[in-house]
Amino acid sequence: MSETVERHEFGAEVGRLLDLVVHALYSDREIFLRELVANAADATDRRRFEALTNEALALPSDARVLIAPDKAARTLTISDSGIGMSKEDLAQNLGTIARSGTRAFSQALGETKGGEGEDLRPSLIGQFGVGFYSAFMVADRVTVTSRRAGADEAWTWASDGKGSYTLEPASREQAGTDIVLHLKEDADEYLESYRLDHVVRKWADNIAVPIAIRDAEG
Ligand code: ADP
Ligand code: MG
Repeated sequence: MSETVERHEFGAEVGRLLDLVVHALYSDREIFLRELVANAADATDRRRFEALTNEALALPSDARVLIAPDKAARTLTISDSGIGMSKEDLAQNLGTIARSGTRAFSQALGETKGGEGEDLRPSLIGQFGVGFYSAFMVADRVTVTSRRAGADEAWTWASDGKGSYTLEPASREQAGTDIVLHLKEDADEYLESYRLDHVVRKWADNIAVPIAIRDAEG
């Protein structure tokens, strides 16, 4: 490992959540896209808001969320021109569980007792979503490259969802975030533009930022 790469362990709660996500119901998996597009839209809104008092942070006029499948690389990338994340933001936001949606989920989890040996927990994922971590329902490796609006440096967070993540310096031309999902063997359907289009239409109706789906490469 190069000396610029730092490895960090996930907290116990994150580990528990990631275990669950791996056992999500097949039918629930598509919600990962709802979660990631919602995060991209939230980040765009935050940048728009901060730009009200700091012109230097103004959004590019063509700001949108881009969903880009790459068949050759077997990746799906979700990009935005939102507020972005610093190194500390990446560690705090993607390495711990102090956040709203995920907290509600954890709570519901604690209150659910599957009767008759039935495990009801995976179906809760569909109802609540587990935010960013739902990426690991369809990906066995996730990298997040981000540049905070107003900052010069970019960082890459990477994890296989199995206990730890790494942080290392990166480069990104503009502020914003790229989430790269290295898709699992059985998640090929998310390389198909028509499938992505279907999921986005179903879940992303009330998203105020334009969403574009690039035709699959490869
Ligand atoms: P929630 O959206 O409920 O806060 P998530 O697990 O979906 O929880 O996201 C965790 C946090 O990570 C967000 O609150 C945000 O701070 C950060 N984050 C996730 N995706 C992005 C993104 N595309 N751009 C900037 N920040 C992001
Ligand atoms: Mg979210």
